Amino acid sequence: MFDNLSEKLGGILDRLTGRGALSEADVDAAMREIRRALLEADVALEVVRSFTERVREQAVGATVVKSVKPGQMVVKIVNDELIATLGSEVQSIDLNAVPPVPIMMVGLQGSGKTTTTAKLARRMTERDKRKVLMASLDVYRPAAMEQLAVLGRDLQIDTLPIVAGQQPPDIARRAMEAGKLGGYDVVLLDTAGRTTLDEDMMTEAAEIKAAANPHEVLLVADSLTGQDAVNLARAFDQRVGLTGIVLTRIDGDGRGGAALSMRAVTGKPIKLMGTGEKTDALEDFHPSRIASRILG
Ligand code: GDP
Repeated sequence: MFDNLSEKLGGILDRLTGRGALSEADVDAAMREIRRALLEADVALEVVRSFTERVREQAVGATVVKSVKPGQMVVKIVNDELIATLGSEVQSIDLNAVPPVPIMMVGLQGSGKTTTTAKLARRMTERDKRKVLMASLDVYRPAAMEQLAVLGRDLQIDTLPIVAGQQPPDIARRAMEAGKLGGYDVVLLDTAGRTTLDEDMMTEAAEIKAAANPHEVLLVADSLTGQDAVNLARAFDQRVGLTGIVLTRIDGDGRGGAALSMRAVTGKPIKLMGTGEKTDALEDFHPSRIASRILG
């Protein structure tokens, strides 16, 4: 992820820093190149526009500051704006509520929802010392329920017993009841995805949300799908309401557009990123570190 973008932005900015003075025309030319590089990386058009406009405004003003080389000033401005676009601060999962704290995972089939549920459960158990219950609400794919049960057994983390014939909102209520009776700190609800953004999935997610009143609703989105992931986030946020985003497959060779657009388009923070298939491959999303990776 980010390799291509990093190479291009690095090249553009290197050419700028190599020069003594910058005219407004130089800045404009650089902004056109940056704009092209971001669009090629699949960053949403609205985000590219506002990003380059903000950088341009500051860069034109900055070229008159004598103490620092103008090119270096522009690099700093681009870096700061990248961080701002990515969300500035690390945003962690909020567990500050009466236990058992319900956390609902939503997203398309294959986005990495079940894997991320297990990763999160593992991190909360091992690092945060919480007692976690995982529940699969995927009544359409018995294999998905079994997948979570297998992950739970491997990690020695409890999963809600599977009861055939129950509807997702009822499973959510049963999970919360089991969470209370069993003295769990957190209940992770792994909902069913669909292959595309569809109305049934949204309706079902809204019903589950009403049944469980989750403290966090996390969208798990595949970063390799670029612009589609951004549209998905917008739709889910409008229909169901999100508190955060988990971007998966950051270890893949995606162009980085989703990571850069998500926060700006939805206003919701990217809280975590999946960096591999194993259950320990989950990391906090650090805007400043990602910005450094993008700038190389
Ligand atoms: P779900 O249908 O949304 O529950 O998706 P799964 O959790 O079953 O994941 C689908 C596939 O993606 C599995 O093969 C996972 O191992 C893989 N996967 C999930 N997250 C990541 C990630 O961050 N990186 C990589 N490389 N693979 C991932």
